[in-house]
Amino acid sequence: MEQVKRRLSCIVCPMSCQGEVTLENGSVTGITGFTCPRGEKYAREEVVAPKRTLTTTVRISGAQLPLLPVISKTALPKDKVVDCARFLSNIRVQAPVKEGDVVCADILGLGVDIVAARDLL
Ligand code: SF4
Repeated sequence: MEQVKRRLSCIVCPMSCQGEVTLENGSVTGITGFTCPRGEKYAREEVVAPKRTLTTTVRISGAQLPLLPVISKTALPKDKVVDCARFLSNIRVQAPVKEGDVVCADILGLGVDIVAARDLL
């Protein structure tokens, strides 16, 4: 039975708790050092299927500014974040846009919408 221990810093809140996850044959068998359930959930996901929220900008036409800040509505698989950012660098939206408007639905078929992070008229 192969046992692997991974040390992680929790990124869920500014406390940055340090913890350790034990994996046996690819399955999580122990988590220590995280001081709340949110941290344990983060650690469990991070070693099996890490995810990240994407924040970036897209070009916008007819607005006061040339770029619209956008954010993924939920976290994306970490290994797809760069592909998503590249895809978004090639799209342009039209003003006006309201905060929360979907600017790219189901990006790359990952089931996550990209939404405007602010109003832009
Ligand atoms: S384990 Fe909990 S308290 Fe510690 S950094 Fe993560 S979310 Fe914050």
